[in-house]
Amino acid sequence: MSSICSITTTRHTTIRAAMQALDQAASGILLLLSADDRFSRTVTDGDLRRLLLDGASLDDTLATLPALESVVLHEGYTVQAALALMNKYVINHLPILDHNGMAVHLVSRLDLDEQILLSTPHMGDFEKEYVEEAFRSNWIAPLGPNVTAFEQELASHIGVAHAAALSSGTAAIHLALRLLDVIQGDIVFCSALTFVASANPIIYLGAKPVFIDSEPESWNMSPVALERALVDAHRKGQLPKAVIVVNLYGQSADYDPIIALCNNYNVPIIEDAAESLGAFYKDKPSGTFGKLGIFSFNGNKIITTSGGGMLVSQDGGLIEKARFLSTQARDPAPYYQHTEIGYNYRMSNILAGVGRGQLKVLDQRVRSRQAIFNRYQQELVDLEEMIQWMPEPDWSQSTRWLSTFTLVDKTRPADPLGLIARLAAIKIEARPIWKPMHLQPVFTNCSYYPHHADQSVSEYLFNRGICLPSGSNMTEMQQARVITALRELLREI
Ligand SMILES: *Cc1c(COP(=O)(O)O)cnc(C)c1O
Repeated sequence: MSSICSITTTRHTTIRAAMQALDQAASGILLLLSADDRFSRTVTDGDLRRLLLDGASLDDTLATLPALESVVLHEGYTVQAALALMNKYVINHLPILDHNGMAVHLVSRLDLDEQILLSTPHMGDFEKEYVEEAFRSNWIAPLGPNVTAFEQELASHIGVAHAAALSSGTAAIHLALRLLDVIQGDIVFCSALTFVASANPIIYLGAKPVFIDSEPESWNMSPVALERALVDAHRKGQLPKAVIVVNLYGQSADYDPIIALCNNYNVPIIEDAAESLGAFYKDKPSGTFGKLGIFSFNGNKIITTSGGGMLVSQDGGLIEKARFLSTQARDPAPYYQHTEIGYNYRMSNILAGVGRGQLKVLDQRVRSRQAIFNRYQQELVDLEEMIQWMPEPDWSQSTRWLSTFTLVDKTRPADPLGLIARLAAIKIEARPIWKPMHLQPVFTNCSYYPHHADQSVSEYLFNRGICLPSGSNMTEMQQARVITALRELLREI
């Protein structure tokens, strides 16, 4: 809640001082307090002008202001009630009083009415400088110093040796699969619970995805299901060329058992860390566990270049090859010669400038998202019986890229889509959990290994899960609106 001290005034205040205070107040109203500090009435520019017209001087006080029954609301008000009052009286601000009649807050129409989005870009102070430098030097495209510096800065931030900046996270996954020689007819394992971009590149290469379920502790790839899938594949003589392990909503998968299993069968891991930049697994940064790791800088991710991605690895040869493939696989010949099929997947020098600025504030962005999650969790403890937050195992340091929960109230059927629609009606954007890949029409014929024969965790999460607005640039008032709305809606349904 924002402080209201700067907009309170008393009957001893001079008209001159009140006018100055009004000038400072963005809301255009002051709250007049009575001698016992209770709210008395609102004061606007028009009220002061009427006093002056009636013969008062600037040095007179507000003592002669007539009493007035101002429109107010009381704590615990609903958003709908507040908007209805504002519409009825054609006003944009309402004082909120506590049960003692003390003003605790001034709520504005914008606070109530403004669309709250799931996750929006949040620029820092340096992005523009890097982009302007690119303009100054006319280093607009294609490569350039920002690209090289962004690669080095990101690599050193997460402690990995090599990185290639690309046009998207999807491009990074596509190249990772190419680098591991995935070709037509090959099998690739992939987390079932993810965004479709994790799996699409398998199809681009004519390979076949096999989807692996989540485990309940982290919502990420189930080592139990992975083991069954590997045993089966080994028996059939059809081991996968790669396993794409996804880190969901800012949280790492449980890599120790996953790596042990993959090493056992000699299958390389591609770590899809698109959603987990800034997270840790047992004190080691997310993105550094696979033979190759990928990040996304899409607009809704924790940091963004408007669109972009990064491929990282300890293996310099692989990253060198990625740079080659991402720039149309041009042979080192004096003319345009190609012996391999390449892609146009490189990041531009302009966007890499945005990325460098964003990387400077990554740690701040992580802390903001964690703080938003902590606030949701603390302030909604009274809903414990109805919602269960995404768990964070003790080996995980999640960024809480998105604050997510499942509806667990046993007294009624879970209806995440109904809740999402009700939130949308009051301009709060929430989203369902990813629809698992094995349930996607486009992947109907693909194999799927559930956590246990009779327990499909990803389906359970999809049927109950909700992602809340989590942007690092959300205001306290916006967070409060989400909290109040959730409580109202879950208590009322
Ligand atoms: C965003 C995302 C991607 C794709 O990244 P783009 O940069 O949008 O191509 C891949 N995997 C997951 C899990 C994602 O959330």
